[in-house]
Amino acid sequence: MSNRDPTEALPEVGRAGGGATFRHEQMRIAGEKVGGERSGERTIEVFNPYTNQRIGSVPKATVEEVRRAFAIARGYRAKLTRFERANVLNKAAAQVRARTCDIAGLISAESGLCLKDATYEAGRVADVLVFGANEALRDDGQIFSCDLTPHGRNRRVYTQRGPLLGAISAITPFNHPMNQVAHKVVPAVATNNRMVLKPSEKVPLSAILFADLLYEAGLPPEMLSIVTGDPKEIADEMISNENVDLVTFTGSVAVGKHIAAKAGYRRIVLELGGNDPIIVMEDADLDEASTLAVQGSYKNSGQRCTAVKRMLVHRAVAAHFTELVVEKTRRWTFGNPADARVEMGTVIDAAAARLFESRVDEAVAQGARVLVGHRREGALYSPTVVERVRPEMTLVREETFGPVSPILTFGDIDEAIRIANGTAYGLSSAVCTNRLDYITRFVAELDVGTVNVREVPGYRLELTPFGGIKDSGLGYKEGVQEAMKSFTHLKTYSLPWS
Ligand code: NAD
Repeated sequence: MSNRDPTEALPEVGRAGGGATFRHEQMRIAGEKVGGERSGERTIEVFNPYTNQRIGSVPKATVEEVRRAFAIARGYRAKLTRFERANVLNKAAAQVRARTCDIAGLISAESGLCLKDATYEAGRVADVLVFGANEALRDDGQIFSCDLTPHGRNRRVYTQRGPLLGAISAITPFNHPMNQVAHKVVPAVATNNRMVLKPSEKVPLSAILFADLLYEAGLPPEMLSIVTGDPKEIADEMISNENVDLVTFTGSVAVGKHIAAKAGYRRIVLELGGNDPIIVMEDADLDEASTLAVQGSYKNSGQRCTAVKRMLVHRAVAAHFTELVVEKTRRWTFGNPADARVEMGTVIDAAAARLFESRVDEAVAQGARVLVGHRREGALYSPTVVERVRPEMTLVREETFGPVSPILTFGDIDEAIRIANGTAYGLSSAVCTNRLDYITRFVAELDVGTVNVREVPGYRLELTPFGGIKDSGLGYKEGVQEAMKSFTHLKTYSLPWS
């Protein structure tokens, strides 16, 4: 076991099919490497989901260490100018672009995502950094003249935004090992906040590498700590530590609701699960719709909060659409994530793959039919198309976070909207039609955060507002610009001149 610098080249991890390089990483508490020598019990092993080889390990933080990270964050006052913040973020973006291969190899090795998906993710991370740099330079104030009503005065009210007094606690999921981390850290840096982040224990290595890229780019280390550990031990401290002003969480509904119950008098931002439909109307271009449907369903191994999880198709075109989806699913290559030609790797672990398998089995027992796929080997679950699915089946009532394409049919737009709105979730959606009367109804009546016309539900810029309602989140938005708003406190002042 060695404590190597994570910024050393990592290409072997990805190119050799994972497992070729073993990396013991330490936490980063205000930039300091912590947790080098720990007993097996105090270590989390990281496995490549495809090869099952151990590719690395990280220490399990103690509650005391988490407290120390928050105390440092709370005690530090960041003084970077807008120019300096933009500079750090731009430098880190350039590093991410220059080292895309290494980063993609690491993401792929620890998550099982294929190199194509992991390379795309590295590109998104660079985008987040650049958008953060640009937003840091933008003025965040407003001016209000006060002589607008008969009660008005000869004054003006001005607004400005500042970092929170306390620290930000961030908790991220496994499905985008580096991009989810970037979406928490970048807006914090851009607003001079101080953050302690706990990555998913399933994919902690990408988060540590990301922090190191920022430190190298000149980030004052007190502005960011990465603590790794067992959520059973340290998660409650992440939520209720006295120095935390805001908890920003991305992950499952169950954990999100636990955080909401536990957080008490502090701000929380919850980005939770999804069950997004793609709705295909009778006038849709079926070639385009089926391409969007399979891409939305299988990219990132189906593990995007905004993946297509239900395909709702007008009965008049269901047969042809299904045929096209089956044909394109058969062509979707999957297997060794480290093979640069493959379009899909594994899901996060064998337990997740078994869950999808059992949900499909249950749907079949209730009358659904598998048309292609439904083969499992360890954490590899093949792209799977299931027809004759009904809304009450667990497969589509719950979030099935993997590469499954359940097809449901409807007779008219009223029924489509009813089915689409009929789950506990409300994250995003896709609609395939050119009819403006349909589009206006979907935009008005789908209970979701996003409606994408003729695009996958997951389409967005890293900059634009993003987030769901109902069980998918509290309605606060992420995306660099909105996250910067939620991470700041707005102060007004007025002056006696107009
Ligand atoms: P998860 O909820 O199991 O874990 C997320 C994080 O929470 C991890 O870091 C985990 O260690 C931590 N955690 C576990 N127990 C905790 C507790 N009691 N208190 C505080 N933190 C705790 O989610 P996951 O399986 O890693 O991720 C998949 C889920 O994330 C899916 O539901 C997916 O839809 C959702 N997700 C949502 C978005 C979004 O923006 N809405 C984006 C990506 C993923």
